[in-house]
Amino acid sequence: MRIGSGWDLHSLEINRPLILGGVEIEDSPRGAVAHSDGDALIHAMIDALLGAAGLEDIGTYFPDTDPTYKDIDSRVLLRMTNDLVREKDYDIVNFDTTIVLQSPKLSKYIPLMKEALAEALDLDPSCIGIKAKTAEHILGELGESKAVMTFATVLLEER
Ligand code: MG
Repeated sequence: MRIGSGWDLHSLEINRPLILGGVEIEDSPRGAVAHSDGDALIHAMIDALLGAAGLEDIGTYFPDTDPTYKDIDSRVLLRMTNDLVREKDYDIVNFDTTIVLQSPKLSKYIPLMKEALAEALDLDPSCIGIKAKTAEHILGELGESKAVMTFATVLLEER
């Protein structure tokens, strides 16, 4: 068994789409500023996978200076990362993740995120945990809904 952890942080600006866990958060007036689609949940999951498999970090495989990854759907990057992990003879047992976002409330999106992520990873949705927390209106930009922060932990088993 191997464990991995990852986190991510993106600032949020008005009139951009907010994508988390492969799902557009339609009632968010703000979205991530990023080279890719800015899916902070998937980026944390990718770093957790890479760390658990003893690989390098997300920026090594998917540099934000590479035009290939401009506005890319992060689910594509997640699938590519899972392929790297499988090449090392590891399979995912489960993920647990946390999203820190002041607003909007994410509860109605969580089942959709689990489905989207499970599909990208060929997993059962029950193998993916997603918790949404607010920033209690503190922590600067996080508390003002001007940033999103994510954490992910993954367990791998050797095939
Ligand atoms: Mg990111």
